[in-house]
Amino acid sequence: MKVISPECELIDSYFQHNQIEEQIERCGRVCYKSEAKIAPGSANSFIKAIISRGHESVLEMAQIHLELKLSSDTPLQRFLENIPRFFTVDRVDPEDKGCILLSANPRAFRDAARAFPSLKLVKAVMRVLTEHFPRLFEDLAPKHGWPQQDGVTVRLVPVQDMEGMTPLVFRRHRTVLFNIITNRAVTHELVRHRIASYLQESQRYCRYSEDKFGSEVTFVEPCFYEKGSPEYQIWQEAMELTEAKYLELLKTSSPQAARNVLPNSCKTEIMVHATIEEWQHIIRLRTSAAADPAMQQTMRLVLGQLQTAFPQFFPKNSAA
Ligand SMILES: Cc1cc2nc3c(=O)[nH]c(=O)nc-3n(C[C@H](O)[C@H](O)[C@H](O)COP(=O)(O)OP(=O)(O)OC[C@H]3O[C@@H](n4cnc5c(N)ncnc54)[C@H](O)[C@@H]3O)c2cc1C
Repeated sequence: MKVISPECELIDSYFQHNQIEEQIERCGRVCYKSEAKIAPGSANSFIKAIISRGHESVLEMAQIHLELKLSSDTPLQRFLENIPRFFTVDRVDPEDKGCILLSANPRAFRDAARAFPSLKLVKAVMRVLTEHFPRLFEDLAPKHGWPQQDGVTVRLVPVQDMEGMTPLVFRRHRTVLFNIITNRAVTHELVRHRIASYLQESQRYCRYSEDKFGSEVTFVEPCFYEKGSPEYQIWQEAMELTEAKYLELLKTSSPQAARNVLPNSCKTEIMVHATIEEWQHIIRLRTSAAADPAMQQTMRLVLGQLQTAFPQFFPKNSAA
């Protein structure tokens, strides 16, 4: 058995290069631990397969920002009356009432296109999205494509262009993606935060007896017990036993069956994609003294990286 400490990585390079399809593939492959299959062009077939299987939560792992210029308020009002969920909408400039920032993940745009294909704003947005990201949206286009819409101009906003926006708008629209390695008890609590998207290593598919996992089960060091203490010794013996039983079960059964003996201390990997606003909320709750110490330990690692990347939103004293 292997014992590791929790760790995390803020993944921002895909955002910076507008590589949303590659980002989706990177996140999706965490479920199956098949990152080794990532190659030039592999995002194409990965996304096609995800869409054909209807596993669309994978398409929540990136954010698209659009600037809308509207000659009238009506298309926006119709849109808001029908589709408020999972979209963030703000006026960027109070002086310019016709200029709107609309953000959502690809899944939300796909759902909107399926549910309300006749809305003017949906048609205008889908035309631009299909042009920029055909792999993500072309299967939803009408036979002759999404028609041009008078009075609505849509522009894809690169993440760099958001730097100049007000802090209020920025924190509501800008998302941050984390890869977190921690134990299963911590991720079980983390996924209770509902205004976020997650993809997690699957114990149903991962067979820890395989070479790529070192033919062993990995556990996360418990922060409660000091190494060498009697309690640590008990924990270690329990993990050794659980690993032996798991590997024994794998000889005759599937990973999804054998995983029933795996404990909370088991290492897991999770991708978490949320707005800065939601990360502020998560950090506030999960670094407080009331939170599980293992959760606090992991979230303080996350906070450290947020403080470096977004100091204006996570000042040095932002732990609860
Ligand atoms: C110290 C601590 C102890 C806990 N103990 C327990 C426990 O014993 N048992 C247990 O089951 N859970 C427990 N939890 C989890 C807790 O109940 C929440 O599920 C979790 O913290 C998610 O936070 P949240 O609900 O504030 O917001 P999130 O899910 O992160 O959502 C962010 C915000 O969106 C809004 N929001 C989201 N969804 C809705 C909705 N459906 N309706 C209205 N507003 C919404 C709210 O304003 C919310 O603050 C604990 C959490 C902490 C931090």
